[in-house]
Amino acid sequence: MQYHLDTIPVWEAMEQNTACPLCALYRRVEAAEIERSLGGSVMEPDARIRVNEKGICARHHAQLFAMQNRLGHALLADSHTKELLKKLEGLEKKAASCEKRGLFGGGDSLEWVVRELDALCRSCVVCDDIQVHMERYFYTFVHLWKSDAAFREKWQASQGVCLPHAAELLARAQKHLVGSARREFAASLLSLVKANLTQDEKDLEWFTLKFDYRNQQKPWGNSRDALERTVNRLRGLCVGGGDGQG
Ligand SMILES: [Zn+2]
Ligand SMILES: [Zn+2]
Repeated sequence: MQYHLDTIPVWEAMEQNTACPLCALYRRVEAAEIERSLGGSVMEPDARIRVNEKGICARHHAQLFAMQNRLGHALLADSHTKELLKKLEGLEKKAASCEKRGLFGGGDSLEWVVRELDALCRSCVVCDDIQVHMERYFYTFVHLWKSDAAFREKWQASQGVCLPHAAELLARAQKHLVGSARREFAASLLSLVKANLTQDEKDLEWFTLKFDYRNQQKPWGNSRDALERTVNRLRGLCVGGGDGQG
């Protein structure tokens, strides 16, 4: 596989000093992909075939719906549904014949029908397209850490990343770094994540203690947004300001 570097967006995300630069990049790419999904390009045959085949996940349907382009969204959903109905018809036939075989041969013949039906509502063309961009950013991130002293310095002074993105970065370190560089990257990543999560948890505990009337007059400190911060660090940006959900 050929890897491409894309240093400018990764540097820009680092400069934002957010809790996770990769969550920031994800949100940026996601917004662009949603916009593009409703643009003219999606009517091109290649794009259309992919949408028809894969469909769109619940999260991205919700975002498309929020774009208030009912016609564009309906066209996407309609051609995918037509395709899906054909597959459903096939499944129906197979399930019926399975049952006959099941009567004579026993066995849990519906299991694979469950699997196929499940697969029909799991794939997402938007998620796939985002993943292509994210793959490039993960690779670039590890590359910058390895080759750019300024980036490494910025990283050391940063808030690290969320846990899901820490796992993604570690997987890329395993793939693209060797020996001491790999160990050093893993150590710096895990210590940054731990240090920041430790701080989040302290603030979160104080947030809960502030509900005790005896602490009412004491200062909030940094605990006002501790719930959002902790949740976003544990599972990736999903609540509070900047979560893109309104
Ligand atoms: Zn993240
Ligand atoms: Zn999706």
